Amino acid sequence: MLPHRLNLRTSSPVAADSPSRCPACHADIASQDINITEGVAFCRSCHKLLRLKDVIASADDEALREAAKDEPPDGCWASDDGTEIIIGASARSLGGALGALAVTLFWNGIVSVFVVVAIAGTLLHTIGFIPNWFPSPNVNGGPTSSMSLGMTIFLWIFLTPFILVGLGMFGAFLVCVGGRTEVRIRDDVGTVFTGIGPLGWNRRFSPSLVRRVALEDHRWRDSDGDPQRRQQVVIEADKVLRFGTMLTEERRRFLAGMLMNELKR
Ligand SMILES: [Zn+2]
Repeated sequence: MLPHRLNLRTSSPVAADSPSRCPACHADIASQDINITEGVAFCRSCHKLLRLKDVIASADDEALREAAKDEPPDGCWASDDGTEIIIGASARSLGGALGALAVTLFWNGIVSVFVVVAIAGTLLHTIGFIPNWFPSPNVNGGPTSSMSLGMTIFLWIFLTPFILVGLGMFGAFLVCVGGRTEVRIRDDVGTVFTGIGPLGWNRRFSPSLVRRVALEDHRWRDSDGDPQRRQQVVIEADKVLRFGTMLTEERRRFLAGMLMNELKR
């Protein structure tokens, strides 16, 4: 029985490109069973009233699964030798690397001038003199040679955030050169590796306990307080794993689609 308020309209942009499916039983939902104004849909197969946003999310998941059946896009790989399934994506990006390198060199070039002064002051107050080979500006008689201990300490504290930001920029450069995310599934052990080249960390999960695989929005505020948004892959199993923010959208979607196909049938 159809609830009578589901007097459904036919103008449905949802059904335009991809067929709407019931998230529960995967049956097609006809466009006249979708009510945009009420934000609901009705599945005639399992007689369920559904939230429209669940139907849309389910249609997107379907698109992800389908796309992952094609050849992996550039920068992605997938293999299954019968014992182990490997699904991975690289964060490599030439444009990103060049951009990050330029910013890193510029920022650290400026910061390094002050770091050299701070090191010179530190040498002065620890070993008592500044070696001649040390590339400090105005070693003899200059401002460095008369820097007080308090000034040296202040300079280090003042410089710390600038040094950390510079290291972060360098890290972003390394990610663009060799960053990768790889999921391995073997027997009932799943591992998510995130790192740069061979360096990184592994997180384990249990493939048989996977309840959900999805692409989710990750929102945060940057150092200026501006809202930022990025998508990430989420695996909900014995624990919740989130990864893939450093990947391009195409690679992240491939990773998510492959994992949906492999982990959640
Ligand atoms: Zn259904």
